[in-house]
Amino acid sequence: MQIAIKAEVIGDDDLRNTIRLSNQVCQECIEAGMEAKTFNKTRLHQLTYRMIRTAHPELNSSFVTAVRDQASDMLKRLKLEIKPTKKQTSSIRLNHNTFRLLQDSKLVSISTINGRKKYAVKIPPYFQRYDFNESDSARIRIEKGRIFIDIIVETQTPAKRNIKKIIGIDRGIYNPAVTSDNQFFNSKKLREVKGRYKHLKGCLQRAGTRSAKRHLQRLTGRERRFVADVNHCISKAIVNKDCDAIALEELRTGSMKRKGKVGKKTRRLIGSWSAKQLLSFVQYKAEMIGKTVILVNSHFTSQACNRCGDIRRANRKGKIFKCCVCGYTLHADLNASRNIVCLAKGKTGRLDVNQPNVACDELKASLREELRMSIVTSLAPI
Ligand SMILES: [Zn+2]
Repeated sequence: MQIAIKAEVIGDDDLRNTIRLSNQVCQECIEAGMEAKTFNKTRLHQLTYRMIRTAHPELNSSFVTAVRDQASDMLKRLKLEIKPTKKQTSSIRLNHNTFRLLQDSKLVSISTINGRKKYAVKIPPYFQRYDFNESDSARIRIEKGRIFIDIIVETQTPAKRNIKKIIGIDRGIYNPAVTSDNQFFNSKKLREVKGRYKHLKGCLQRAGTRSAKRHLQRLTGRERRFVADVNHCISKAIVNKDCDAIALEELRTGSMKRKGKVGKKTRRLIGSWSAKQLLSFVQYKAEMIGKTVILVNSHFTSQACNRCGDIRRANRKGKIFKCCVCGYTLHADLNASRNIVCLAKGKTGRLDVNQPNVACDELKASLREELRMSIVTSLAPI
């Protein structure tokens, strides 16, 4: 798997101007692509290469091809429907032609508009455990006048374990994560801090002065880092649990969202600030230690009884789950996380087939049946 090592480069104006110019050239490629309605790399090359080399002879040809590819990827992502914009400070890609690590990674050699130059690089001690001397790809960007580099390192991942024990995670707003082995990660502190930031931001927005805007920007960064920190802590605790696989509900965005087929729960998760980040943290941390992440469909997981498999909306009343048939009572999120385990067990037992393209009602019925069956099967003595 690939990891990015973030480090600060003690750069000069040549390096800064190289980043700025590359981004400007990238934007020029985007404009050309939008006009010709293409994101094809060869086509973009024909349209822009000669023009850019003539206009900016100081820019290394490797930068020109790298930003052209970047422009192509950006155009492709937005399907030529919306024009992407590249800020002058945003990140550009470096490859073996434009970047090298030197002297036990204390120096980087980077091509600039003023020839090849060497700069000191500060790699945090935490990352020293990785072998990045062989790395030949990176991204570089400007952040508040400082220059940061993300060095991309290919690491060996341990072989996947055999799946014997699965832990299910139910994500939500009130509790960011509830695990099927009874651990609740609550968001009291999180909501408190978020509330405080919201209040502060409101005050600053009303003030509207220049200094208030600057302050606002700082707050946004601080809040984002706080949320990421909480997600790092939760995901670390989850992947270190005694298990071989971690099961979560998949967040269906994209096509499902457009067709309006998503359930209430998924909609809430999509709208929530951190569910997606938590998922990505769990995924990469699990991969690093050879654990599998299983994504299951979230339909009915909060309405199904984990003891008898009965599925109905009335089973759930707020935080409490009480089965209308067998009377089984449990915290609703805990019940959902256990249903997620059942679904994941069902999924690992058979090959993953593509979801058939059926009408909404049919799909619901089949999901309902799948969930009910997986609960009933998990109850049967082995
Ligand atoms: Zn029941």
